Amino acid sequence: LSDKIQGTLNKLKGKGKLTEKDINNAMREIKLSLLEADVNFKVVKDFIKTVKERSLGSEVMESLTPGQQVVKIVNEEMIKLLGESESKIDFSDDITVIMMCGLQGAGKTTTSGKLALKFKKQNKRPLIAACDIYRPAAIKQLEVVGKGIDVPVFKIEGENDAVKIANEAFKEAKKKGNDVLILDTAGRLHIDEALMEELQQIKSSLNPREILLVLDSMTGQDAVKIAEAFNSTMEISGVILTKVDGDARGGAALSLRAVTSKPIKFVTTGEKMSDLEPFYPDRMASRILGMGDVLSLIEKAQESFDMKQAKEMEQRLKSMQFTFDDFLMQMEQMQNLGPLDQLLEMIPGANSKQLKNIKIDEKELVYIKAIIQSMTKKERNDPSIINGNRRKRIAAGSGTSVQRVNRLLKQFNETKKMMKKMGAMEKTMKKRGGFK
Ligand code: GDP
Ligand code: MG
Repeated sequence: LSDKIQGTLNKLKGKGKLTEKDINNAMREIKLSLLEADVNFKVVKDFIKTVKERSLGSEVMESLTPGQQVVKIVNEEMIKLLGESESKIDFSDDITVIMMCGLQGAGKTTTSGKLALKFKKQNKRPLIAACDIYRPAAIKQLEVVGKGIDVPVFKIEGENDAVKIANEAFKEAKKKGNDVLILDTAGRLHIDEALMEELQQIKSSLNPREILLVLDSMTGQDAVKIAEAFNSTMEISGVILTKVDGDARGGAALSLRAVTSKPIKFVTTGEKMSDLEPFYPDRMASRILGMGDVLSLIEKAQESFDMKQAKEMEQRLKSMQFTFDDFLMQMEQMQNLGPLDQLLEMIPGANSKQLKNIKIDEKELVYIKAIIQSMTKKERNDPSIINGNRRKRIAAGSGTSVQRVNRLLKQFNETKKMMKKMGAMEKTMKKRGGFK
């Protein structure tokens, strides 16, 4: 989706003057791309109509940069379509019950864990209840998830009444002082009455504060049907769109809000427990339009990074004084962030060849530290003075080899380049006004 729309928009952007025909052509291409990406037909039709009307208006045709104006309109309308950002959980004063529902394989169990981890970081005390009594090994799976994030899991082995489990879990939460109860329910391959009946019973019995539909973003056209079905029987409070890291980005997201009028609250972007992000319409729009997701990246980094150190690093970045001390600090903090390549993939314009050069093995970090610590303060601040002799001395001092030192210098330079690129990206985005 991204590639096509981006191509169309780039063609427009390059034009000095636009004719009605240019706009018609561009709209046709965008329409096709959206339909191919499984965006609901009616949604596409309305979207194109609005964009076209605005594009043919005088605000565009008479402006100095008509192509860019159209791009701006497409972006703005897409954000509108995606709805407001409502990535909030409505906590109650008592135990906040959050019910997860959705089809089998959508990601309910994993996302229950991700939410629990998020709440834990907010100093809450979550409990997850294993209410999926059908899928073999479902309880075990949830237990593994809970163990990994150190969150308790409530289960009743052998019990075949999900409503009872949910109720007992609530009592347990009360007893143990948990303030959030996440119900991981069962899914089916298709929506069926038995499933809905059971979910409704849990709902009326515990009156959850939030009923979140977990929806696989790869479901395409069906996503809207599934959402409508769950919404009409369960009255969901929001959607969590999973597997946004896959290919099918956006199609479902674009139709959901328009069709169900329920907000997408979060998106999940991978199999790790930390791969849960708030849903930001402007970022999703830029993802769809192919601008990469720099802001998500920055936010992710902010959660793990020491804020003060990060601020200092940002300052240095601005003045382009990225030193080996910064590099070392960054390496250490990156370890908290998870795989480096995943982060770097989110940077627009970063190609895989560049990525290979800065990819750093976790084991390698030990050597890197030793090498950097063998540099003098002057060398760390200004690596350009590290000549052949100095390299030999550093290699000997760190108990490594000149090749290793060379490799590190190369990695350092690549990283510096990437950081520079990120800095520049951030600036242009701010200038474009697409991000706030
Ligand atoms: P459930 O049947 O709804 O409980 O779904 P699960 O939580 O068991 O997830 C089904 C599969 O999807 C598992 O293999 C998960 O690891 C995977 N999965 C869940 N969320 C994501 C995501 O955001 N990205 C990716 N790549 N995989 C995910
Ligand atoms: Mg499950």
